[in-house]
Amino acid sequence: MKPFLHLNAQTVAQAVKSLVKFEGRARLNAGGTDLFGLLKDEFLPEYPEAIINLKSVAGLNYLKQSKGILRIGALAKLCDIAESPLIKERYGALAEAAHAVASPQLRNVATIGGNLCQDVRCCYYRYPRHLGGPISCARKGNGPCLAVRGDNRNHAIMEGRKCFAVCPSDTAVALAAFDARLVVVGPAGERRIAVRDFYHPLGNALERDEIVKEIEVPALAGRARQSFLKFTLRRPIDFAVVSVAALIVVENGVCCEARIALGAVAPGVIRATAAEEYLKGRAIDVESAAQAGELALAGARPLPKNAYKLEIVKTLVKRGVLGLPLETAGEGDAGGPCPHGNPERG
Ligand SMILES: Cc1cc2nc3c(=O)[nH]c(=O)nc-3n(C[C@H](O)[C@H](O)[C@H](O)COP(=O)(O)OP(=O)(O)OC[C@H]3O[C@@H](n4cnc5c(N)ncnc54)[C@H](O)[C@@H]3O)c2cc1C
Ligand code: SF4
Repeated sequence: MKPFLHLNAQTVAQAVKSLVKFEGRARLNAGGTDLFGLLKDEFLPEYPEAIINLKSVAGLNYLKQSKGILRIGALAKLCDIAESPLIKERYGALAEAAHAVASPQLRNVATIGGNLCQDVRCCYYRYPRHLGGPISCARKGNGPCLAVRGDNRNHAIMEGRKCFAVCPSDTAVALAAFDARLVVVGPAGERRIAVRDFYHPLGNALERDEIVKEIEVPALAGRARQSFLKFTLRRPIDFAVVSVAALIVVENGVCCEARIALGAVAPGVIRATAAEEYLKGRAIDVESAAQAGELALAGARPLPKNAYKLEIVKTLVKRGVLGLPLETAGEGDAGGPCPHGNPERG
């Protein structure tokens, strides 16, 4: 790695101050599991002059419930979220999503803030140095998107513009289903951003000197059947080809609340609003769940090599709505060899 300054922030305000001082030439470090890979392989368009360590900020790793809102400190580790009795009990889809990330070793270090802010896994963005990388593209601010005419098997089938890399975060999918918000701190103070609005085609909604401080997750009014389903090519450590978080509340035999979030199909998390609306007021059965799967594809425009994702979306939505696991004995295997031989995904 190239040399850089390393600063231990003691408070969020101090970290913001350092970001301001370095005028875009500094990067935040939480667990470091994404950041240091990017630095080592020099994937970033510009190498940072300083790394601001957030782990030295005390008390930012909390999980607490107050007034119907779960508050998660940005430094909370994925392993703690996956194992928290409170989250398992009330926010099961989030616990499942945190558990679905990478491996135990990574979850023991990686934070929720870092998981939400991690960089994309596009094979061109992370083109290996030993094969002639790094290479430029639209996301790096120089040139066209190479995936549009190239290998786009793992890229967006919805809402791609300029850059077709998908949001790689599993926890974002569950959080979007819960209508969670990020509490963000910057030089101008604090503001809130809905997780479903956080991702943009070329990055995220953070301003240059802003930090994610907390995630607010409102509790659902009723008791929901919750699931997080993730289809991968390789198990156990792999990014989603498609993932779905489904929260279904049924009262008196009919669905009164449906939340369906789709992951790895777009630069951000998609809420399948047509499917949600369709389910409300209906009995949940195989037919209505299958129809929800069809409606979840509203607005899909696959690239030449990734139309296969459409069937996976339909199946995952159907299973999520019915509360079924990803696969049932005798119905095929979601596993298999990774075509790239590595965990990079579009
Ligand atoms: C082999 C492997 C497999 C993986 N598989 C999966 C997977 O299946 N699913 C999945 O979701 N992820 C997966 N990941 C990604 C992994 O989850 C992320 O690396 C991790 O969650 C990042 O968390 P971190 O705390 O280490 O972040 P860091 O690496 O410290 O930071 C990541 C980015 O976020 C920024 N950042 C960190 N904290 C904040 C904050 N509070 N405010 C603003 N910006 C911040 C950093 O500046 C950096 O740009 C995998 C990673 C690896 C290496
Ligand atoms: S999908 Fe995005 S990151 Fe990948 S080549 Fe296109 S512009 Fe670059």
